[in-house]
Amino acid sequence: MVKARTLGETIEDRIAAVKERMAQSALRAGRDAAEIKLMAVTKTRTVEEMAAAASHVDFLGENRVQEAASKKEIWMKEVWPDSAIERRKIEWRLIGHLQSNKIRKALALFDALDSLDSVGLALAVERAAAESERSAPVLIEINTSGENNKTGVDAERFPELLDRVLECPHLKLEGFMTVGPLTDDETRVRNAFACLREMASRARLRSGLPLPVLSMGMSGDFQWAIAEGSTCVRIGTSLFGPRV
Ligand SMILES: *Cc1c(COP(=O)(O)O)cnc(C)c1O
Repeated sequence: MVKARTLGETIEDRIAAVKERMAQSALRAGRDAAEIKLMAVTKTRTVEEMAAAASHVDFLGENRVQEAASKKEIWMKEVWPDSAIERRKIEWRLIGHLQSNKIRKALALFDALDSLDSVGLALAVERAAAESERSAPVLIEINTSGENNKTGVDAERFPELLDRVLECPHLKLEGFMTVGPLTDDETRVRNAFACLREMASRARLRSGLPLPVLSMGMSGDFQWAIAEGSTCVRIGTSLFGPRV
């Protein structure tokens, strides 16, 4: 069977299409596309799919520690030994809620924890990182939509969490993450992203640190996120198809 090489047919084609849309959004916003990273979100995807994506994206993002652990085992055996991927070492980042009993495992598996959302979790990660004598790159996840079912620290608790994270010598705060509200309403979604940008800029003033990362935007809303200043979009469906 001869397959027409249409856009969207392979993972590589879909990554190229997403990058093109990212570039267009950056252009419209008067931004440099090179400052916006692409994370492939790989929950429920196979290691083969992840390997196909890995050399064309900046990060791999997983939601669950246990799922990442089983995949990494296969990855180390089958992908790592003979691939170009590791020459350009790909970062694995945790983007799902972290339970305190999985912190050690998460630190061993991931290069960064993007979903820090409470003082208790921050202090526990600090202790575990100190014990293993490493530093842990982290993002603080903020609930910018006010939806109760959303993860992330809410606006009132954010200043305290920020201060506590900044006091932790083994936590290396890179910036902030949010999940936009699940709606087609452009104004509401963009307001949430603008809220993250504004909280980040206040945090920079408060801390005197660059805190450059704004992780926001998924398949349905990454173009709006780029318009509002995203530096990392997290894409699953548009790269791999619908999750089953
Ligand atoms: C699943 C997930 C994504 C990717 O969502 P898509 O709509 O499939 O692109 C991004 N961020 C987080 C936190 C996720 O859980």
